[in-house]
Amino acid sequence: MKITALAGGVGGAKMVDGLAQILPAKDLTVIVNTGDDFEHLGHKICPDLDTVCYTLAGLANPETGWGRKFESWGAMESISALGGPDWFRLGDRDLGTHLERTRRLRMGQTLSQITTDFCSAWEIGPGILPMCDEATPTMVLTEQGELAFQDYFVARHCEPQVLSFRFANIENSRPAPGVIEAIKAADHVIICPSNPWVSIDPILSVPGIKDEVGKKHVVAVSPIIGGKAVKGPAAKMFAELGITPSAQAVAQHYGSLLDGFILDNVDEEQVELMESMETTTFVTNTLMKTSEDQAQLAQEIVDWINSR
Ligand code: GDP
Repeated sequence: MKITALAGGVGGAKMVDGLAQILPAKDLTVIVNTGDDFEHLGHKICPDLDTVCYTLAGLANPETGWGRKFESWGAMESISALGGPDWFRLGDRDLGTHLERTRRLRMGQTLSQITTDFCSAWEIGPGILPMCDEATPTMVLTEQGELAFQDYFVARHCEPQVLSFRFANIENSRPAPGVIEAIKAADHVIICPSNPWVSIDPILSVPGIKDEVGKKHVVAVSPIIGGKAVKGPAAKMFAELGITPSAQAVAQHYGSLLDGFILDNVDEEQVELMESMETTTFVTNTLMKTSEDQAQLAQEIVDWINSR
C-alpha cells in the first residue's frame, strides 16, 4: 500500500518516522512544508525539511525536536561575541547543511534536487519532497502588524495575537517535481499531526495540490490532544482565531477533504460529534513519546485504513 504524507516539522517528523519503520521505503513519500523557510545570516534555512530529514536519518536532536544531535555551538558563540544576530540558534553541524544547500542553490540547483541528493547522502529511504521549489514565506498578521513567520515564532515566542495568515507568492508557486505524481500514486494520503494553520495549509495552498489530494482517500491525525497542542502554538492559534481548540476543530478545519480522522483516547467523547459530521474516526493513543509509540501509531493507522 502506497502512502503519501503531508508534514510540517516536529509532529510531522514523528509520524513520518513511525511510517518509515513499518512501510517499505518505496511505498512512502513525504511532502514537506517550506512556508517556514527563510534566509538567515545569508543562508537558506528550511526548518521543517531539515527536521523531517534529520529525524529519518537518525541525526535529529531528540531533546529539542529541531537541529542535530551531538551538536556544538562554536559558530553561534562567535556570532554572539561579534554582536551578530543570535536569536535563531544554528549549531555547527546544522550550519554545514545550510552552507552546502545555499551554495548549491546559488549554482542554480532547485531545492527539490538538493533535497533528493541530501537524502541519498543521509541514506534516507522514503521520498522526501519540498512542497514547491519557489519561496512562499508564511506571514502572520498579528495585532502588532504583519510578521515574517520566524520573527513571530522564534524571535517573539508566538506571543503576538494572531489575526490571519498569508502565504506570500504562493499563487506563483508550482508543486515541486514528483509531488503531484506521489499524490496520484498514493492509495492513501495521511495528514500528519502538524500545525493545520502554518504547516499543512501552506502545502494545500500550492496551486494544484489540494485538488489532487481531494481525489484520494485522506485521513488526518489530530495535533490537538485534550484541547492542547503537544508542542507549539496550534491551540493558541485556534483560540485567537475564535475557535475553541479541540480535535473536532481540527477535523472541521480540514472539512470535506477528510474521509477519516484519528484522535486521541482522551478525546473519545468527541467521536459522536464527528460522526454526525460524517467523518469516520479512529481513537487510540496518539501521543508519540518514543520511537516505539511512533511505529505503533503508524501500524494502527495503516491497519485501520486497510480494514475500511
Ligand atoms: P513544527 O513545524 O515544528 O511546528 O511542526 P509540526 O507542525 O509538524 O508540529 C507541530 C504540531 O505537532 C503541534 O500542533 C503539536 O501538537 C503536534 N504534535 C507534536 N508531537 C505530537 C504527538 O506526539 N502526537 C500528536 N498527536 N501531535 C503531536
